[in-house]
Formats: sequence, C-alpha cells, structure tokens
Amino acid sequence: MRAIDLSGCTFGRLTVLARDGSDAKRQAKWLCQCQCGTIKTIAGASLKKGTTKACGCLHVERTRAMGLANADKLYDGLTLHEHSKRSGVPYSTLTARVRKHSHPFPAHIAPEAHAEQAKQRESMRGQNIDGFRAWLGKGTQ
Ligand SMILES: [Zn+2]
Repeated sequence: MRAIDLSGCTFGRLTVLARDGSDAKRQAKWLCQCQCGTIKTIAGASLKKGTTKACGCLHVERTRAMGLANADKLYDGLTLHEHSKRSGVPYSTLTARVRKHSHPFPAHIAPEAHAEQAKQRESMRGQNIDGFRAWLGKGTQ
C-alpha cells in the first residue's frame, strides 16, 4: 500500500518537506521542518494522529519561559543571579528555594541572618574571654 503523499502539508508547527523512507513497521516517515527551523524525521502516523505537532521546541520554549520568569524576577530588589553572586549560594539552589518557598532567602535560611547570629556569638565569646581574662587577672593580682 502506498502512503498518502504528505509533502507540503502542515501539522501544527511542522511542514512536511519530503518522504523519508519507512520505519521498521513499514510506516511512512516524513522529513518535516518545524517553524523554529529544525528539520526532523517524523512518522506519518504521529503526524496524522496529531501526536507530533513540533520538533520538541514547544517544550524547550516553555522551560525557557519559566527560566526567564525566574531570572527576570526581583527578590528584595535583586535578580536571582545577583543574589547568587552576592551570597555565593549557587543559582540552582536559589531557584530551588524559589520553587519551594517562593523566595531565594526565606527568613529561616537567610545567610545574612546566619552571619548576624555568628557575629553575635563571636562577640559574646569575645566578651566571655575578656571577662574570663579579667577574672583571671583579678585572681592573680
Ligand atoms: Zn521546533
């Protein structure tokens, strides 16, 4: 049985350029060009059923759009890239936090808070040591 000639037909973003042989099941395959410029061989059945409407760029574009939304969005006046640069926290960690907490630095894991606490602990330790030295000094005097 001869496959129907699909050359010139469009399916979603795909335009059929030419027949490209048959697959193992002797189903016609077609060389298609996507609107994005990608040329790909696609089984005629998937074209006719409508299961394949693009080369795969639709998915890529969606992911890219999501990535851009993240990259352009400001959190406390900074983009995630700027936060990453300032804090040293990897960009991927920040995007993961945004997905989970809708903020790259939720209060309970903010590095600024950690730094502040560490500073306080350090100054307290310093005071204690000074106090201890003073006490020691008094004792030996
Ligand atoms: Zn495409």
